[in-house]
Amino acid sequence: MYQIKRVTIGKTPQLDELAHACGEVYTATLVSFWRTVRKKGIWLNPKHLMRWHTSTKLHAHTADACVQAFFASLKSWRKRRKTDPTAKPPRRRKWYFRVEYKHSAMSMKENTLILSNGKGNEPLVLDWPWTLPQTLVIRWTGTQYEAIATYEPCCFPVPETGKKIAGIDLGEVHMAVSHDGEQAYILNGRLLRSKRQYRNKLIAKLNKKIDAKKKGSRRRKKLIRSKQKQLKKLKNQIKEIEHQSTSRLISTLHRDGVQTLVIGDVRSIRQDLDVGTKNNQKLHQWSFGSIRHKLTYKAERIGMGVELHEETYTSKTCPVCGKRRKRPPEGRNFQCTKKDCKWKGHRDVVGAFNIRAKYRETFGHSHVVGVGMATPIGMRYMPHADVARKEEVYLREAAGL
Ligand SMILES: [Zn+2]
Repeated sequence: MYQIKRVTIGKTPQLDELAHACGEVYTATLVSFWRTVRKKGIWLNPKHLMRWHTSTKLHAHTADACVQAFFASLKSWRKRRKTDPTAKPPRRRKWYFRVEYKHSAMSMKENTLILSNGKGNEPLVLDWPWTLPQTLVIRWTGTQYEAIATYEPCCFPVPETGKKIAGIDLGEVHMAVSHDGEQAYILNGRLLRSKRQYRNKLIAKLNKKIDAKKKGSRRRKKLIRSKQKQLKKLKNQIKEIEHQSTSRLISTLHRDGVQTLVIGDVRSIRQDLDVGTKNNQKLHQWSFGSIRHKLTYKAERIGMGVELHEETYTSKTCPVCGKRRKRPPEGRNFQCTKKDCKWKGHRDVVGAFNIRAKYRETFGHSHVVGVGMATPIGMRYMPHADVARKEEVYLREAAGL
C-alpha cells in the first residue's frame, strides 16, 4: 500500500495550460484508438500510442501517463462489462486532464519540488516541505487544483529537516515584511516614520528660535539645553520602537521554526567589497541601516543564519506567473499585468516572497502560492504593553543567556 499526501495548490494559468496539454494527449489517444478499431479492426496497445502521441508542452513521461490512463479506463470497462451490461467504454474527449509526474521528472531543492515539463519548458515549482515523492498527480477538485503525492510505505512524507527560510523586505511604510513560505508578517512602520518626521521638523523649528537669540545669551543657552533634551527623548522613543518591533518579529519567526533570514539589499555591498574583517563589519552595519542591524544581531544571537541578497525587481515581479511589471504597483495591492494571470494580492508581501524566491533560485518562475499568500499578520508597536519585556525574555532564553 502506498501512502498519500494531498495538498491544495490553487489555480494558475500554468496549471491550466498543463492540464489542457494532458487533455490534448488523452483526447488524441482516444480518437486514434477508436478510429483504428473502426477502420482497420485493430486494437492498438499502449506502446504504439505512446510513441504516436507526445506533447511539446509536457515531460515525455507525463504524456505517456495520459495514454496509460486511457488504457486503464479501457481495461476497467472490459472487466465491468462482464457483470454489468450497461457499462460504457471511455469515449468522451477531455479538454482538461489530470497531470501526472513520474519520479524521473522530479527534483527537490530547498523545500521546493521542481517538476520538469520537458526541455525548454518552464518547470512547475511547488512549495514542498516534505521529502521527494514517488509520483505526483495534479487534478482539479472543482474549485482549485490539488496535488496528490504518493510515497512508498517506508518513506512517508516527513517534514524535511532542511532549513526554513524567511525573506525579509525592509521599507518605509512598513519597517519590515517577512515571508517564510507559509505566513507573512508585517511590522507597521507608520509610528516610526511619524516620529522621524516630527524630529526633523522639531530640529528646524528650534534652530530657527535659537538663531534669533544673541550668541552667548542666557536665553540662547537655555533653548539649546531644551533642544538637546527634547531630541534625546525622541531618540529614545525611536530606539524603543525599533527594538520592540524587531524583537517581536525575530522571536515570532524563531517560534515558527525559521532558521535562515534572507534580507533584501539594494546595494549588495557585502558581496562587492572586501575590506578586511573589522572594516567589513562596520560597512555591513552601516549599509544595513538600524533596522537591518537590529534584525541581524538579534537573529544571529539565537543561532539563525542571516544572508543578504540583492533585491532587483522583487517588488515588481508577479509571484504567481513570474511576469515583471513595467512600473512598480500603485496603491496597497499588487496587480499582475499579464492577461491570463491577473494575480492580485498584498503589495508588501510580494517583495518578501520574491527575496525568498531569489535566494532559493526560483525567482521569476511561476509559483503555486495558494497557501503561501495567506493574509499577512500585522504587528504594531504597543506602548505600555508588556510585549517588549516578554519578547526580550524569550530571545535571551533562546540565546542561552
Ligand atoms: Zn502574474
